[in-house]
Amino acid sequence: MQLDPGVVPDRMVETHCCFCGQQCGIKLLVKENQVIGFEPWMDFPFNQGKLCPKGVKRYLQGAHPDRLLHAYERHASAPGGFQPMAYDAAIARVAAEIERIQTQYGRQAFACLSGASLTIEKAYLMGKFARLCLKTPYIDYNGRLCMVSAGAANKKAFGIDRAANPWSDILKAEVVWISGANVAECAPITTDYVWQAREHGAKIIVVDPRLTPIARTCDLFLPIKPGRDVALFNGILHLMIENDWLDHAFIQDYTHGFDEVAASVQAWTPRRTAEVTGIAERAIRQAAAWWGQAPTSFLMHARGIEHHSHGVQNCLGAINIVLASGRLGREGCGYATITGQANGQGGREHGQKCDQLPGLRDIANPEHRAHVAQVWGVPPEDLPGPGVDAYEIFRKIDQGEIKGLLSICINPVVSLPDNHFVSRMLDKLEFYVAIDFFLNDSARHADIVLPGSLQEEDEGIVTTAEGRIIKINQVVECPGEARQDWRIIQDIAQALQRPHGFTFASPGAILDELRHASQGGVADYYGVTYEKVERQHGVFWPCPSADHLGTPRLFEKDVWNPVAQGQGPFYFPDGKAHFNVVEYTPPVEETDAAYPLMLTTGRVVSHFLSGTQTRRIGPLVDHCPSPFVEVHPQLAARLGLIDGDWARVETRRGACTLQVHVVKTIRPDTIFIPYHWAGEQSANQLTIAAQDPVSKIPAYKVCAARVQKAVPQVAAQAPHGR
Ligand code: SF4
Repeated sequence: MQLDPGVVPDRMVETHCCFCGQQCGIKLLVKENQVIGFEPWMDFPFNQGKLCPKGVKRYLQGAHPDRLLHAYERHASAPGGFQPMAYDAAIARVAAEIERIQTQYGRQAFACLSGASLTIEKAYLMGKFARLCLKTPYIDYNGRLCMVSAGAANKKAFGIDRAANPWSDILKAEVVWISGANVAECAPITTDYVWQAREHGAKIIVVDPRLTPIARTCDLFLPIKPGRDVALFNGILHLMIENDWLDHAFIQDYTHGFDEVAASVQAWTPRRTAEVTGIAERAIRQAAAWWGQAPTSFLMHARGIEHHSHGVQNCLGAINIVLASGRLGREGCGYATITGQANGQGGREHGQKCDQLPGLRDIANPEHRAHVAQVWGVPPEDLPGPGVDAYEIFRKIDQGEIKGLLSICINPVVSLPDNHFVSRMLDKLEFYVAIDFFLNDSARHADIVLPGSLQEEDEGIVTTAEGRIIKINQVVECPGEARQDWRIIQDIAQALQRPHGFTFASPGAILDELRHASQGGVADYYGVTYEKVERQHGVFWPCPSADHLGTPRLFEKDVWNPVAQGQGPFYFPDGKAHFNVVEYTPPVEETDAAYPLMLTTGRVVSHFLSGTQTRRIGPLVDHCPSPFVEVHPQLAARLGLIDGDWARVETRRGACTLQVHVVKTIRPDTIFIPYHWAGEQSANQLTIAAQDPVSKIPAYKVCAARVQKAVPQVAAQAPHGR
């Protein structure tokens, strides 16, 4: 497909979609340094040519008139509030402001926020830039809003944070359990794996407050109240124990802590589980019977159970029923979180998290610090200690501790909860520089905007939801004065006259250093090269040596890992996995007489995250031009609403007026709003900034709300096609 079918492309480049964590293979067509279309890449094994609507239209973004071609500075009288400035002058101003703030208030008065759509090379460079060049502990990233609950649970239970299996294992599973994952809209190509499993006879169980598209084709749908997943997993484990649907040998030989967990779920009778979750007791018993007796199985979850003030507990509850089944580390037996962002997996491994160094190393661990400091050529004491999570960075701005901010590839004004507060904090900064390719909603608060690179303007590696490292190839050059992001970061380091460690000539040179920095760590990339990644259509980490082919399936018996050193398959010194007692706690904000409904938020298939890209791609905007609120017919009748009406949705943090979609696919006590829009249409004006105490993920998936009929805001649009 091309913009103009008559145009003959100069070249065709094999690369990957720029959006979600599936990272589908795609061939982009190029004419005169412009992406003009695409062809399916049939040979790439994950998607075999298939693409979702976002992938099909992604080629349209590069030529958008909003593409930043220059650096900009804030200027009150300029149209739009910004005027172009020379790139070198912008870099000099950024360096001068960093120097001023750090001299006046201390090194840690400057913070960085980065993104999980960056390649691994850029994510690694950002972690190094904060710790080595700025010497600030304050860096975090937008994966904090995405996968950190699953990551923390994975580390607690398995000692390693990665999907345990390649997606090909889904095809061999006889039961597929999907909790809190709107697979068909958020990870569309995974739908194909689930449906293929079903074609082979698998039973599909879906747990969700909404009858999502994947749920409409499942065998058993459990319409759970938002935020009650721990109760369900404990109830399922209760029935597995009661019916002896357990793998005793696996529990005995490969795990710790089962007896404590078994005692803790005694109280979770089917009746109590039904009362708390809102799911019929009969359906809970059916799910337990299918899961408990399955010969092979695959459990996957996503933000629906992770975006909670007890998101880690939810994920640990899921892991408990997987460990009790013993179905892990073999063909057709798997467990995974479905990452959201392009590099949702790789972006959380190599040091842009506030507590982390490359290779999934811990910044508080003296041995880990020593290893990375040696690679970076500095004494370990030069590295700052742990920082704080992304939302806490904004609280520190509020408290006056942080005065300056550099952001790259993150749009917190749309994506953080209670975002009126976030906007006020950006305005409170003494200096804010944003690096991006479009002037996103957060960059509008910046003093300087630096023109970064689109995915197709650079090369590098990314790790997919499966744990497969893939190669993004450069397709076109950056236009105008735009630069590849790693060059911009290094330009700032040079202008600060702190060039040590920031003289890389290419992404390949950054990868070379990262290979050494990750060597011997849990996420060991030492054996990863561009050549190997391309030759094999991906390398699953860990890949610890040049002759190692990678590790598609984790936890196979007798596989060596650097922590267990041959003692067992899991990444703890004795090689055993850990059951964890998970206590049910209700959502931080329960419904009451004033706010009687549960608000949950999520995505639609046509848009991606904060919409910076997809709200600029015409056909995707046509498909879903604006947000809406989903209301069940029973609730609509009570409120006097019909499909296409306007309604004011209010929480204790804010309000917005949206068009009503009356749907039978949601619980009558719950409403849903997609979160891809900014300003008055932003769902995150409403959400609560409560966070999980361990992962610090915000509780996007449940808060208390109320709805009332409103006067139309604009000329009525046709009801959303359904
Ligand atoms: S958005 Fe995700 S599923 Fe869709 S084409 Fe891109 S990578 Fe594939």
